[in-house]
Amino acid sequence: MASPVLSSQDTCSVCGAPLEATMRHCPTCRTDAGAPNVRRCRTDENLKALAARFDDAQARASASGCAKEFSDLADMVENKSGVVVAMPAQVAMALFQDPNSLYTNYEQLVGANVRKPADFDNDRQRCGTVGVLFGSYAKHIAYGALSLTEEGSPTYGDVHCRLRSVTIDKRTSFLVTNSYRFVRDYSIVAGDKLPAGYMACWNHRHSLVLAKLADRLSTGQTESDWLVLLIQSDGKDRQNDDFVEAQIYEGFDRNAIESMVATTGKILKKADKMFFKLAISEFKRLGGTTK
Ligand SMILES: [Zn+2]
Repeated sequence: MASPVLSSQDTCSVCGAPLEATMRHCPTCRTDAGAPNVRRCRTDENLKALAARFDDAQARASASGCAKEFSDLADMVENKSGVVVAMPAQVAMALFQDPNSLYTNYEQLVGANVRKPADFDNDRQRCGTVGVLFGSYAKHIAYGALSLTEEGSPTYGDVHCRLRSVTIDKRTSFLVTNSYRFVRDYSIVAGDKLPAGYMACWNHRHSLVLAKLADRLSTGQTESDWLVLLIQSDGKDRQNDDFVEAQIYEGFDRNAIESMVATTGKILKKADKMFFKLAISEFKRLGGTTK
């Protein structure tokens, strides 16, 4: 059966003017309609499709004797999960050394001529992927992973910054897996409608996780098993990553960061060790606590 698809247009709640799904502000009265990536998750089509996927997952888990694990994991994600952005140590240092520094995404850095594009094949893949997912507002989206710990995906950098939920909960959406994998697995090409039920706003992130992981539950599993299921990575190749991707509308400054750790078990290069040390010392000076 074909998945329902997402609608592409809203109406401004203040002046009634048509509001394209890509726009944050009403073009007529400039009312802030909220982050477009979050609005897209709250369409009837997406909410209904996500609820149906969650209900199906719950029924399957119950049938296989995992009703308790299903409900424990749902509670844990709802109450304990947050967003971790992994970044190179040098980026973390820059963020902490300069109070005016902002975490910005690839598109903005390349657009501002601050960094060079990645090699041609990677640059094309990146631009193509974010283009089919977000269109012109891709330049506003920063990426992280939904995590139950202080660590995200190590393929994005050695330093993991968990963000204070209050700073991002209204502007963050979640995708069932990382963008590259999603576009590939669902064979989405330019012009295709996106399938509904595979993305969620903050308050429904547990539904997205359970719909995804229900078939991987088994009796007797606990938190330590679920941490591994939630973020899968070989630490080397992003193509092999599988995690629930957090898509944050606009970046953040150092005040959004509540914890900072280096990738567990990895020995950092000498320069990265120094960058991390500088970032951590500034983080602590500002009142941050580390393990
Ligand atoms: Zn308006």
